[in-house]
Amino acid sequence: MFSEIMAGIMGGRRVQSELRGIEDHSSPNYGRRRDGAAPDMVVLHYTGMDTAEAAIARLADPASEVSAHYLVDLDGRVVRMVGEGMRAWHAGLASWGGVTDVNSRSIGIEIVNPGGELGKPPFPEPQIAALEALLADILARHEVAPERVVGHACVAPGRKADPGGKFDWRRLARRGLSVWLDPEPAEAGEANVARFQSAARCFGYGVPDSGEWCAPTRAVWRTFQMRFLPFEAGGSPNRAGVAHLERLAGRWPCAPEA
Ligand SMILES: [Zn+2]
Repeated sequence: MFSEIMAGIMGGRRVQSELRGIEDHSSPNYGRRRDGAAPDMVVLHYTGMDTAEAAIARLADPASEVSAHYLVDLDGRVVRMVGEGMRAWHAGLASWGGVTDVNSRSIGIEIVNPGGELGKPPFPEPQIAALEALLADILARHEVAPERVVGHACVAPGRKADPGGKFDWRRLARRGLSVWLDPEPAEAGEANVARFQSAARCFGYGVPDSGEWCAPTRAVWRTFQMRFLPFEAGGSPNRAGVAHLERLAGRWPCAPEA
C-alpha cells in the first residue's frame, strides 16, 4: 500500500501535476518539416543566457534565425514558441543515427540556464520537474523512445556542449524519459579507437570511421563522457569508457536510417 502511494507520488501522477498551463510566445523562426517528417526525437538545450526574457527575445527575433518549440524557465514556467507540427530551428548542423536533418525529426526544448561549468547555478527543482512533465507528455503523444531524448551536444559534438555537464541525465532516465546505465568496474587500459567508433556509431553519434583518435572522434568522446561519465569528464579515452559505451549501444542500438 505504502509503496503504491509512493509510486503514485514519484510516477505519473506527480509528473502530471507539475505541468501547469503552458504560455504561448510565438516565434516566427520556423518552417515545414521536410518530406512530411514527424518528430521522433527530442533535443534538449540550455539557453546559455541569464534570464528567460533574454532567451525568449532572442528565440523570437527574426534576425537570430533560431527558435525552439518550448522553453522551460527556472521556476517551472513552460513557454511554447513553435507548434510541434512545425520545424523549429534549434539543432543547426547536427546528426544522430544517420539523420542529418535533426530539426525536421525533433522537438527542441530550451532549458533556461546560463551554461558554463564553473560557478554557475545548477538546474533548480521546479524547472526539472516541469521539464519531466513536458517530456512525459511529448513522449507519450509522439511515441518517442526514451533513447531518442538527447542533448544538443550529442547531435553536434565539439560544436555544442548543452545541456552541459551539470544536467542530470540519470534522473530523467529513472523516470523513463531518457537512458542511463551505471558504470561497471572495468579493466584499466588503453582505449581501442575502432571499437569506440563502432559503438559510438551504433548508439547514434555522428563519428568518423578513421580508425584513429582524430579531432572529431575526440569530440565525440568528450561529449559521451560529459553525459554518461560526468564524474570523469575531461579525462582521456580509456578502456572502461569504451566498454561503457558498448554496453549502452548494445542495449539501445540506434536503428539505421532507411
Ligand atoms: Zn543548443
